[in-house]
Amino acid sequence: MPARIDHPSPSAIVVGGGVAGLCLADKLSAAGIRVTILEKEEKVGGLARSLVHGDFVFDIGPKRFHTYSPSVENYLHEILGRAYRTIGRKSSVYFLGRLHPWPLQTSSVFRLPPLVLARCLVDLFRKPRFDGTSFSSYILSRYGKTLYQVFFRDYTRKFCHEDPEQMHEAWAQGSIHRAIIDKRFDQGSLLAVARMALLPKRAVTRFLYPLGGMDRFHEALAARVQRQGGRIHVNTPARLVAGQGGTLIVETPDAAHRADRVFWTAPITEAHDSLVGRGPHLKHLTLALFLIEARRVCDDGNQWTYFSSPELLISRTSYPRSFDPGLVPRDAGSIVAEVTVPEGGSVQWDRWEELVIRDLHEAGVCRHEDVRAVHHARIPYAYPVYELRYQDALKRVMGDLAAFPALVLAGRCGKFWYNNMDDSLEDSMQIAARELTAWRRSAPA
Ligand SMILES: Cc1cc2nc3c(=O)[nH]c(=O)nc-3n(C[C@H](O)[C@H](O)[C@H](O)COP(=O)(O)OP(=O)(O)OC[C@H]3O[C@@H](n4cnc5c(N)ncnc54)[C@H](O)[C@@H]3O)c2cc1C
Repeated sequence: MPARIDHPSPSAIVVGGGVAGLCLADKLSAAGIRVTILEKEEKVGGLARSLVHGDFVFDIGPKRFHTYSPSVENYLHEILGRAYRTIGRKSSVYFLGRLHPWPLQTSSVFRLPPLVLARCLVDLFRKPRFDGTSFSSYILSRYGKTLYQVFFRDYTRKFCHEDPEQMHEAWAQGSIHRAIIDKRFDQGSLLAVARMALLPKRAVTRFLYPLGGMDRFHEALAARVQRQGGRIHVNTPARLVAGQGGTLIVETPDAAHRADRVFWTAPITEAHDSLVGRGPHLKHLTLALFLIEARRVCDDGNQWTYFSSPELLISRTSYPRSFDPGLVPRDAGSIVAEVTVPEGGSVQWDRWEELVIRDLHEAGVCRHEDVRAVHHARIPYAYPVYELRYQDALKRVMGDLAAFPALVLAGRCGKFWYNNMDDSLEDSMQIAARELTAWRRSAPA
């Protein structure tokens, strides 16, 4: 536990109660800082919260903890105690009309159509050079034309609503690392994929899942913040207003707050728009989630599956039972189906629901007659999109916000960062340590 700062204790407002905001509030309140979290949703957890419908608990897509950081690992154990499951990963990709294990395995390589396999083998020896910037060039130079065409190009178009040539190579690195998770799986080139696929024995990636659902983690963390004197206001959207001399006022529907520091984990574009005015374009994606209750256990045997085929609307499915059987009533099934739309775009819930059910039926995941109920959830700012010139735009936005010394940007949305929960946690720990050191240095002797 950090040493307490007891002299007139500084105050902090944390905007956003996702894992980044909760962890910041935990570390700061443990050191005696007066912390208030302002969260616009009805509960904390952010992109990692669970969506509950009766006896069915759904996550926002597949959610699991995996980290290489000893400090994050210790932190997870400190918060979860023994209330977690350790699960071996099982995930897949659906392309060319069938499921293939992901990361690819020997069996799936030999199940590729012979022409595709032959073209992949030729690609091993004939790959174009990387142009130094674009997603498409990066993928072509690493995986060759065939895998680019049969999987990466279509998946990226469908998922990002963007031409792969207009995407930055950082998207390739981010998305492939996100999809693979485990550094032991080198799938960063066609040769590495071929080597991994032909390995007779494969390591299994293990991850942690809180017993009873992801909300158990956020609830435990929120309870700790409150025990340490921190306050949490849900249903409280916050907006930044510039005060005099670079100071900040945080406006909520019924109050105006001031604090020594404002930790902003909400979308960076919101902070920029309200403090500076409309800034350079940073594109986000909204997730349209179809949360499906099924009459019987119905899934494809995986925890999650990517769908690249352009004729299917869904881009990914996940199956709560495979994370924790307690998330689904006995003998029933549940599926989370994801469709992305550009931020602010419209979602045609009824028509898309029919298409989603059709996709699941055709892919052999769940027969349409087994669907019992479908719930909808719109998740804004689910992904930052790394377009070709996003780094210039981000630099300008961050530069403008640097005029407000009390403002600290943190978390996935606050930093426009395609990250995982462990990244948000580690970053928040580092920010809290840095801020506490600065406060201690400035404290009267
Ligand atoms: C589909 C999907 C699957 C994922 N799977 C995994 C996984 O398996 N493992 C993993 O580690 N990570 C995964 N991630 C990433 C993970 O969800 C994020 O890294 C993490 O949740 C980010 O936490 P955060 O606190 O930084 O941001 P957020 O969760 O975005 O928190 C920001 C908070 O700010 C609130 N907010 C926004 N605007 C305002 C406002 N104006 N006023 C007040 N509050 C506001 C939001 O409601 C939210 O609670 C996944 C992400 C997605 C979208």
